[in-house]
Amino acid sequence: MKAKACVLEEFGKPPAMREFDVVPLAAGEVRVRIAAACVCGSDVHISAGEDPRTPLPIILGHEGAGRVTELNGVVKDVFGRELREGDPVIWERGIFCKTCYYCASLKQPALCPNRRTYGISVGCAAPPHFQGTYAELIHLRAGTAFIKLREGDDFSVLAAASCSGATAAHTMEQARIRPGDSVMIIGPGPLGLFCAAFARASGAGRIIMVGKRYHGLRLELAQEIGADEILYSDEGSVQDRLALVKSWTNGLGANCVLDCAGRPSAMAEYLDAVAPYGSYILPGIAVPSGEWPVRPFESLARKNVRLQGVWVSDTGHLLSAVQLVQSGRFPFGKMITHKFHLHEAAAALQVMRDRSAIKAALTP
Ligand SMILES: [Zn+2]
Ligand SMILES: [Zn+2]
Repeated sequence: MKAKACVLEEFGKPPAMREFDVVPLAAGEVRVRIAAACVCGSDVHISAGEDPRTPLPIILGHEGAGRVTELNGVVKDVFGRELREGDPVIWERGIFCKTCYYCASLKQPALCPNRRTYGISVGCAAPPHFQGTYAELIHLRAGTAFIKLREGDDFSVLAAASCSGATAAHTMEQARIRPGDSVMIIGPGPLGLFCAAFARASGAGRIIMVGKRYHGLRLELAQEIGADEILYSDEGSVQDRLALVKSWTNGLGANCVLDCAGRPSAMAEYLDAVAPYGSYILPGIAVPSGEWPVRPFESLARKNVRLQGVWVSDTGHLLSAVQLVQSGRFPFGKMITHKFHLHEAAAALQVMRDRSAIKAALTP
């Protein structure tokens, strides 16, 4: 038996449809028919060859959800529920080694140096080939963490939640937002929107979303999710914008700034928007992106400001994101602005690249 997948063979070139043999499952492995794969901003960087982890050729896609078609042996989800053929499932996009210092001792598996990520760090040249979500099916290795979904769950929304939603959950853990804290979010993409929802759900006070005028649709959705103020980063001077933030936060600045912009210049502009004893959290930097200057005395030391990186996520974060979506409290369905067939992956990447989409989903 053969199945189709969308393969990146050369950086900077559109991916192409290819067929591979479907190989037998080893013990503990699960085959899932992909119901929806989402196109991540990282996939745009990966396609351009900007992610140092990427081998070629590769089946792109680390965001996906679908139905179990086959299993070898007993495989359970995080709640101990046995997976069965036909079950709707989602899975952790990274496989951790569980034995290294970061996994076993520090309990920070996102930092596992042996972490392998479907669609990012595992190529498709050798069997079992199907190691990314831009495909009809995926061959999930033993050790993959699963969450059974409910019938009726939206596969596209959950696929999106499996990456940016989970990273937003990790961001919340690092941000340690207290009830009533003002939270400023830079960048109204999927990561920023999930952060806004988590901040709202965590009891944040005023939520400020930073975006550009042309982000209209994203900013409207941010407001629907719970952002109180919109700060246009393409209007006025930096000083004007900092003054606006202070005017919305009792003259203090934001207790917490979540930088989801993914560009170094955002930090240069907004580090000083943090209130004394506040934090500046960086979940948005996914590939090496250059340098920027910081004034350590004025912006950090003198104000007791905490500067905190956030790298990807682990299974607990995925579960938080799935549960936030399943709560039905937020209109995440509106985030999926574009749907394409699997063979139109190049077009899906393009609408993510030119930012006309908030999120594009691929369905086989
Ligand atoms: Zn992603
Ligand atoms: Zn490890």
